[in-house]
Amino acid sequence: MEILFIFLVVFGIIVLHGPVSNWYNRFYVRRQYKKFLSQETFLHSIISPNLKYYNRLNLEDQRKFLFRTYLFRRAKRFHYIEVTESAEMPVLISAVAVQLTFGLDKYMLNYFKDIFVLKDDYHYGFYSRPFQGHVDHSGIYLSWDNFMKGVKGLSPNCNVGLHEMGHALAYVNFITQTEEDKHFKKEFKSFSKVARPIFESMQKGSKNILGDYAGTNYHEFWAVSVEVFFENPLRLRHELPALYNAISMLLRQDPMVVLNTNKLAA
Ligand SMILES: [Zn+2]
Repeated sequence: MEILFIFLVVFGIIVLHGPVSNWYNRFYVRRQYKKFLSQETFLHSIISPNLKYYNRLNLEDQRKFLFRTYLFRRAKRFHYIEVTESAEMPVLISAVAVQLTFGLDKYMLNYFKDIFVLKDDYHYGFYSRPFQGHVDHSGIYLSWDNFMKGVKGLSPNCNVGLHEMGHALAYVNFITQTEEDKHFKKEFKSFSKVARPIFESMQKGSKNILGDYAGTNYHEFWAVSVEVFFENPLRLRHELPALYNAISMLLRQDPMVVLNTNKLAA
């Protein structure tokens, strides 16, 4: 009798687990969506004046973008180190993460619960050069001055927010394997087929639009590629078309197409 009972419980857990958790997820998302609607205007008022990427999306995608930003921001603890907190900080940082992962299904970077905002360049560990941002097991670190320079396009080809989110995305998929996006993991192999030879030639001294820092190691190559893909798509596509296409396939988005759509609409 007892065995039968245990069997039924185990059977019940196995059979019902999927439907119950799916139901709960749908319920959770619907509840969050209601809460999000009351913040939609606020989020738009911060993101629209700052993020060109957002303004180029159609209305439906803008709403999806804002909802993802809302969920991302809600899930993180933001810490402010020697910098005065402002309302736009957590919103814009979340928005940049959403920009990078907009074509993917998994976008929460769930392993990272903490995001640290610093004022400007800082020193970290035993490195002698100053940092603009970094990612390690304890969280995502960003310096606000540099972050905003990237968002406003004041530093050509550089966007520290996208750069660090690029590291974080690779981290959750390959290092902690806590949030694996099936498409991203699979497609990363195709990306590497194109990217590895370019990276290796850079290590031998060849120069290209990515700049010397991308040749430091393959992690940096990936993070810099992400920055240039969004910040200077026209030149990247012209100079390294295979790499541009590989990133576009990997991230399931194409900044040039968004640009073209915008041009047509204008
Ligand atoms: Zn880096």
